[in-house]
Amino acid sequence: MSVSHSSKLNKVVRDQYMKLPLGDKVLVTYIWIDGTGEGLRCKTRTLSQEPKTIEDLPEWNFDGSSTGQSEGSNSDMFLIPVKIFRDPFTLDPNKLVLCEVLKYNRKRAETNLRSRCKVIMDMVKESQPWFGMEQEYTLLGVDGHPYGWPKNGFPGPQGPYYCGVGADKVYGRDIVETHYRACIYAGVEICGTNAEVMPSQWEFQVGPCEGIEMGDHLWMARYILHRVCEDFGVIATLDPKPITGNWNGAGCHTNVSTKETRQKGGIKFIEAAIDKLSKRHKYHIRMYDPRGGQDNSRRLTGQHETSNIFEFSAGIANRGASIRIPRQVGQDGCGYFEDRRPSANCDPYAVTEAIVRTVLLNESGDEPEVYSNEERLQKAADED
Ligand code: ADP
Ligand code: MN
Ligand code: MN
Ligand code: MN
Repeated sequence: MSVSHSSKLNKVVRDQYMKLPLGDKVLVTYIWIDGTGEGLRCKTRTLSQEPKTIEDLPEWNFDGSSTGQSEGSNSDMFLIPVKIFRDPFTLDPNKLVLCEVLKYNRKRAETNLRSRCKVIMDMVKESQPWFGMEQEYTLLGVDGHPYGWPKNGFPGPQGPYYCGVGADKVYGRDIVETHYRACIYAGVEICGTNAEVMPSQWEFQVGPCEGIEMGDHLWMARYILHRVCEDFGVIATLDPKPITGNWNGAGCHTNVSTKETRQKGGIKFIEAAIDKLSKRHKYHIRMYDPRGGQDNSRRLTGQHETSNIFEFSAGIANRGASIRIPRQVGQDGCGYFEDRRPSANCDPYAVTEAIVRTVLLNESGDEPEVYSNEERLQKAADED
């Protein structure tokens, strides 16, 4: 089994030092999304008192030329704190702080999709949009091989693994349980977890969260996941199809409701939302992974509980559709719907913004297909 060297360092020695008191000092770890739009970076500083609100946190900066976010000649980028969480790794009063990234000219970095999402969410506050996202991920050893899979060959076919129990059914529950507790301690709105269909694949759910909170909480949950995995010496990949062939891919189902859909008779607003979504399928596919649909095209094949990337579909309890209305919601006549298209490595700010634009702001139109990451990011930058 290929676990990292660092995970084998002597933790008893570590614990001895971690008990040292810090006096009045507080460690604050600033976290941001890097130039890939998927990777997370962090760095830590000392404050002389505990920050209580975002206003207590100074802006900071980093070298954007080392994160794929700027050229070397103009490389200072700004870190703007937007959300504080408790630090589950070094404990109270230390903090994890999610940041937006601005360029040298204080315009948003291309991979900062939060600032635009926030503008859109502020426009639709009255509708109280709630989201819940189901983050699927796959555990790998540091050699890139699925964690717990035989070194040569494959585990038995899918069937016994989903919500499985037993050493021959699920691999890595320590990580899942640790991540769950760490999220709750931090203040992340994690609401559930389960083992997935492919062995070593897991899911956690975050939500319901209103507006911009969805992206903030999911990104912090992802940070904590990567950080927990680091301690255990393994990797969590959000690749939407880590293993080709007859193995399930990984998505990030996005559940959506508004004040209207949650009220009695709300199903008619859900149906109206689905109608709007049906006319804008390509746009949504473009927003649902960091490469404008390329990543998701490996996953959305129409097999393995997915819809086909080229077709829009919807149905009650249909897990092969783009949009699923949960059976209970069909029975109650109100509630939420599930968009099953977002890729596991989606940016939740892009996903929730797209849904709000289509469903609540009634934007329409499906521009031609683009799409390298660069083109999409350039386009986003031009729109500012
Ligand atoms: P599934 O049956 O699709 O696997 P899960 O239990 O994994 O469903 O996830 C359900 C998700 O729906 C959770 O993220 C939860 O927060 C979210 N959710 C529940 N109620 C609502 C609601 N009213 N609006 C938006 N999201 C909701
Ligand atoms: Mn689920
Ligand atoms: Mn799932
Ligand atoms: Mn789901």
